[in-house]
Amino acid sequence: MFKSVAILGESGVTGQAVARVCKDLSISIVSPEFADVVVASPGIPPSNYPEVGPPPISEIEFSFLLLKSKKPTIKLIGVTGTNGKSTVTSMIGHLLGCPVSGNIGIPLINFVLGPDLPDYIVVELSSYQLERCFVFCPDISILLNITPDHLERHGSMDAYAKSKATIYKNQCKDQFLIYNEDDDRVIQLLGDVSVKAKVVPFSRKHRLMAKVESFQLGIHNALNAVAALLVIEVLGKSVDDGVEKLKHFSALPHRLEFVKQVNDVSIYNDSKSTNLDSTQIAICSFKNPVHLIMGGKLKLYSDSDYRRFQHYLKQHVCSLVVFGESASTLVEHYNTIVLLQVVSTMKDALDISLKMSEPGDTLVFSPGYSSFDQFDNFEHRGTTFKEMVNAL
Ligand code: ADP
Repeated sequence: MFKSVAILGESGVTGQAVARVCKDLSISIVSPEFADVVVASPGIPPSNYPEVGPPPISEIEFSFLLLKSKKPTIKLIGVTGTNGKSTVTSMIGHLLGCPVSGNIGIPLINFVLGPDLPDYIVVELSSYQLERCFVFCPDISILLNITPDHLERHGSMDAYAKSKATIYKNQCKDQFLIYNEDDDRVIQLLGDVSVKAKVVPFSRKHRLMAKVESFQLGIHNALNAVAALLVIEVLGKSVDDGVEKLKHFSALPHRLEFVKQVNDVSIYNDSKSTNLDSTQIAICSFKNPVHLIMGGKLKLYSDSDYRRFQHYLKQHVCSLVVFGESASTLVEHYNTIVLLQVVSTMKDALDISLKMSEPGDTLVFSPGYSSFDQFDNFEHRGTTFKEMVNAL
């Protein structure tokens, strides 16, 4: 199919996986000017693409072409959105008993070499991966939500939202788009970039919410469960069996994960919260106001994003402790809104937040920013937090 490939970002996990597959398929790895196709790792921003050679495509697009040529009947289920992708991808994998891949940490290309390709693969898709897809077309696509994030890379909310439309824009009329009709930006996007697939909306009012709300922490997780159940419904499988299976789904670590009670204070680790929206969702998931710890690598939010978050802080947070690179920005916006303390380390944040808590309270570490100011990644940050809590 391809004789030569150039790989941008060859040393990363995705680049290495592409190189391995090329070697096995006897596709030569060359520099961009001599390549039939250029495959870019998601971490390489388009501003760093070479000026020569064909326009780079993502590893997802490349894998899609190889997989479909090897097994045309394989069904790909794509999941995107600002938040909830990994959770919904894992739920679908659990329901269908099929492999998960993509942004969740397992490159899709890994499946190309397998002797027996599965019937289904669920693929978590980030905006970085989607923005370099041109023909990619999942059989079922899921659009969970669109809220401000990654504006440094995409330049504007509009460009960010448009990258998400790539998940459905090549779909045809016998394929499916499952989308969140409560989300205004999703609805606007469907107006801007037209849909040919059959549409399956979900919302807080969806009939399946009643079947899952009792065993999911937070409305967001109930919505995630409904989105996953709609996949099996679309495939003609039993939704009731799916509900039973979901009762045995273990939530992923670092997503509003209960750690332990200390002095009767319940402590949660939500290290995967890397934007204001997921922190908002976290604090709204508890009946009573929470003691919140936030902070991480500073990222671009607009004043209106900060104002919107302020409204939830007032209602759902009784104390806020901030640390890390974004601490001073948080102080600037929220010092007069909520009881706020600034510290420089996670350990100090935990100690002070606990000091302000009373028996029966809830303490949530939901940073709202990425981890790269003080940690290797969100897992490192969350594991460090849990170790500190468990050592108390
Ligand atoms: P992603 O892969 O999109 O980052 P995750 O499932 O890893 O999504 O969750 C990331 C963060 O978003 C966590 O803090 C989690 O609690 C929160 N979250 C999960 N589902 C949703 C949702 N549907 N809406 C908003 N936030 C969510």
